[in-house]
Amino acid sequence: MTTRTAPRVAVIGAGIVGASCAYHLASRGAEVTVIEREEGVAMGSTGRSAAGFRTQFATPHNVRLSLLALDWYRANDSGYTPHGYLFLVPPEQWDERLDQVAMQREQGASVDVLDVEEARRIVDFDPEGIAGATFGPEDGFVDPDRSTQLLMQHAREEGTVFHRLETVVGAEPRGEGWRLTTTEGTVDVDVVVNAAGAWAQQVAGYAGLEVPVEPFRNDVFVTAPRSRARPLPLTIDVPSGVYFRSEGDRLLIGHHDHDAPTGFLEGVNWDHLDPIVEALSDRYPWFADEELDAKASWWGYYEVTPDYSPVLGRDPAAPTWVNACGFSGHGVMHAPGCGRLIAEEVLDGRAHTLDIAPFRIERFRGRDLTVETAVI
Ligand SMILES: Cc1cc2nc3c(=O)[nH]c(=O)nc-3n(C[C@H](O)[C@H](O)[C@H](O)COP(=O)(O)OP(=O)(O)OC[C@H]3O[C@@H](n4cnc5c(N)ncnc54)[C@H](O)[C@@H]3O)c2cc1C
Repeated sequence: MTTRTAPRVAVIGAGIVGASCAYHLASRGAEVTVIEREEGVAMGSTGRSAAGFRTQFATPHNVRLSLLALDWYRANDSGYTPHGYLFLVPPEQWDERLDQVAMQREQGASVDVLDVEEARRIVDFDPEGIAGATFGPEDGFVDPDRSTQLLMQHAREEGTVFHRLETVVGAEPRGEGWRLTTTEGTVDVDVVVNAAGAWAQQVAGYAGLEVPVEPFRNDVFVTAPRSRARPLPLTIDVPSGVYFRSEGDRLLIGHHDHDAPTGFLEGVNWDHLDPIVEALSDRYPWFADEELDAKASWWGYYEVTPDYSPVLGRDPAAPTWVNACGFSGHGVMHAPGCGRLIAEEVLDGRAHTLDIAPFRIERFRGRDLTVETAVI
């Protein structure tokens, strides 16, 4: 008789979060099966992201998640390009922003405080209503598709089995583990990792559980090619919340409209474009020369939680059900680190590289949530 030592783990979803969890679990000896309904990796939100990476968050726990991911992005062929994030901050938010910079630096992030003229040497803008700027020289962007492919390739080299074109449609407790029902049959495992992104609530529901993750449609508007002297960092006009960055000879533009409805709405929200163009034209006089490329623009889902931080760790109602979802628009920049934390949670009993108390689902029982406000 043989004794099983390696837990069998099913990871639901092959976005960047699922791929990272699979890689970290498999490299530490777990028997991992990834189940994905699409035909390949990164076909959910991951492939639709604006690919930004930043350490400039308003809460220390999200800064720490970024820094954990930065190590992986630097060490791998991930497309990591540190062109920076530039926040243009109005006077009424300046003191609060300086407090955030102090907190970010305390956590180990590299953030510069710039006056208006220093910031205008990076991106030319109308200084009306701007007190100063913050710039993260280690912020920038990555290649989400390549990074997910790489994580999954390493996961498979460590023995992960990848079931694609297979949808999980049910989950029932079996002993201390789970029997997943899929469109292809059943999969029996000791532990389930819910990495189903915007669909995580639906997947949790199959197991009779809840996770407060809502789909939230977001757009990326793209301009036509135009020669540029140099790359532009991801630049956020904080008063309007509108951002852009350069991608080759184009600009990618977006805005998180907090008032828009949640739900599985589909297609680019063209009604959203006029206020965005107005804000860009007011702030950046040179924007008048840009032309929109409607066909190159796209949309996808943020997977938002009530406090805009992810849900990580065991579900107290079912300890062999582990959440890795609800990244609220920051999943690409946080995934590499969170896979490591999830592997620790499954294999060591508890995540320990970072204290994940601020990410545990139990936080929603408390009255006061610490809301991440740096959502763009
Ligand atoms: C327009 C836009 C811009 C963004 N910009 C950024 C950015 O600049 N930086 C950043 O960090 N993040 C950004 N994000 C957010 C980022 O894309 C997500 O946070 C991240 O991709 C989440 O990864 P995930 O693996 O959790 O989810 P996904 O990539 O959505 O993966 C979940 C997978 O689960 C699968 N699945 C769901 N249900 C089932 C089922 N029942 N059975 C089997 N498989 C299932 C889905 O098919 C999907 O492939 C952006 C998102 C959008 C939409």
